[in-house]
Amino acid sequence: MKFIADAMLGKLAKRLRLLGFDVLYDCTLDDNEILRQALDQERMILTRDSGFVQRPLAQRHLFVISGHVQEQLQQVLAAFPDQAPLHFSRCSECNTVLDWIDKREALDRVPQYVYEQHEDFMQCSTCERIYWKGTHTRRILRFNMNKPVPCSGTGRSCENIDQMK
Ligand SMILES: [Zn+2]
Repeated sequence: MKFIADAMLGKLAKRLRLLGFDVLYDCTLDDNEILRQALDQERMILTRDSGFVQRPLAQRHLFVISGHVQEQLQQVLAAFPDQAPLHFSRCSECNTVLDWIDKREALDRVPQYVYEQHEDFMQCSTCERIYWKGTHTRRILRFNMNKPVPCSGTGRSCENIDQMK
């Protein structure tokens, strides 16, 4: 199951990517472009826009009810229970499939305490972010050496997708 998320769902898009889902999220896309990409790439539309979902070409959609990302995530996973990928595999920023790397490649690219306490690291080959698994939780953490990419374009409200907790 591949998704395309509207501009209001940046945080949800990141969470889904961390779970391994292929999620297209570009807050500069307008409704027509979202529709075209969804049809071209056979992506399920995730949206909070009740007007948008009434458009005939937007039939393959999930209308996201909650404004809270955790509830949004639960709704998506409940709607597609057989679709959840088994492991974390995509960059939350750019949707690239992550590669495992040797631990020493993470040296000097993550905080020292992280390097000392973790064994398994992954890297995004596109934006070079480093990922690792949290020790006490199953949360995925990352160290962001780069500044967030600014959203520009349509002037629609974009979530700040760099504020992931
Ligand atoms: Zn990336």
